[in-house]
Amino acid sequence: MGKMNERVRSAALEVKAQRWLPGGVDSPVRAFRAVGGHPPFVERGEGAYLVDADQNRYVDLFGSWGPMLFGHAWPPVVEAICDAAGRSPSFGASTAAEAELAELVNACYPSMESMRFVSSGTEACMSAIRVARGFTGRPFVIKFEGCYHGHADALLVKAGSGVATFGIPGSAGVPDETAMHTLALPYNDLAAVEAAFESHPSLIACVIVEPVVGNAGTILPAEGYLAGLREITRKHGALLIFDEVMTGFRLSSGGAQGRFGMDRGEAAPDLTTLGKIVGGGLPVGAFGGRLDVMNMLAPLGPVYQAGTLSGNPLAMAAGKAMLTEILAHRDTIYPQLEAATAKIADGVARLAAEQGIALTTNRIGSMFTWFFTPEKVTDFASASTSDTAAFGRFHRAMLDAGVWLPPSQYEAAFVSTAIGDAEIHAVLEAAKEALKAVT
Ligand code: PLP
Repeated sequence: MGKMNERVRSAALEVKAQRWLPGGVDSPVRAFRAVGGHPPFVERGEGAYLVDADQNRYVDLFGSWGPMLFGHAWPPVVEAICDAAGRSPSFGASTAAEAELAELVNACYPSMESMRFVSSGTEACMSAIRVARGFTGRPFVIKFEGCYHGHADALLVKAGSGVATFGIPGSAGVPDETAMHTLALPYNDLAAVEAAFESHPSLIACVIVEPVVGNAGTILPAEGYLAGLREITRKHGALLIFDEVMTGFRLSSGGAQGRFGMDRGEAAPDLTTLGKIVGGGLPVGAFGGRLDVMNMLAPLGPVYQAGTLSGNPLAMAAGKAMLTEILAHRDTIYPQLEAATAKIADGVARLAAEQGIALTTNRIGSMFTWFFTPEKVTDFASASTSDTAAFGRFHRAMLDAGVWLPPSQYEAAFVSTAIGDAEIHAVLEAAKEALKAVT
């Protein structure tokens, strides 16, 4: 990495943004409050790199929070979007591309027999919960502490991501009456789930889970945990929802359920939510699963859900370009991503050990987190033992050395296929120095 320019233009842009947007941002963690310092303003992306308004280049290890599996300005997606835009950005009427993308999703996710496209992961999760409640006729939802399923009222209870970053248990503006039907339990604890079903007989509509948690930092499911959730939900007549907004098309072409052999038959979740990669950087979410459950939706059934821009042609075109590539090259893409991630995540873990810094590295596929704690991280409580001030110092030093990590301890980092040996080397060199800022 060359010498960095002072972020003069970014500073001016931040002042202007703060005039018009609360905190200067449209999504809170972007403001860098959790790590200190000021966010660079992005001018463009080029493959593995982000370029800021002062022409500094950063190796991108957060990938727009997940969507950029193939790096920035990846030509097939850019061309697909431009081509679709030339035919008009929106119709509010059906196009061929919606069913075509659905077919591609189903080729990756056989458990999604029927699906609907929406415009964000939040909408996908919110809608999946509504269908689950409509189908079962029950009011309660189980979620897990540190899991984030978007900012819909019912799901903002002990949530991860920005909610965890700012240390708030929920959100002002969510009436108790709305949140009272959400039971937040510790992740990786089947006994807690069993107990909740016992104490709420025939009242729990569904369990929603990030099969691999990304929104408290990366946390892996214990052996048998996801199968246990499947068993318990089935026993009690509740639906199981895998929120794969983050893990979808990232941990394998079939996401977490594909990776763990839970993508079909008895092992599969009843519903799955998707976002991020399925839109290739455009605003897309999807929810889908069992045909009998999805047929509850209007116009077939009594559960209402809709969207002016749902199935937007630009978004569908971008998604088709992503999934076509994934399906054609999944045998090589995922091993490549995992190898690059191992080199980065384990390489920095080794450097930290050499410097006597307590670091716990959790990784799977191309997502990982360096937790600044000596504890094993298996749930939100153990993630919360992290030294967030140390993470902040590390983050700032990495940024100044040209590596952009997600700006919170409670977020997963992502590796794209655009990251090669040169970028891996740059990250390790940057970390060698940045770790010195931690102590
Ligand atoms: N679910 C998970 C697992 C997520 O990671 C996110 C966003 O980070 C969401 C839901 C919400 O998605 P969106 O930000 O597109 O509304």
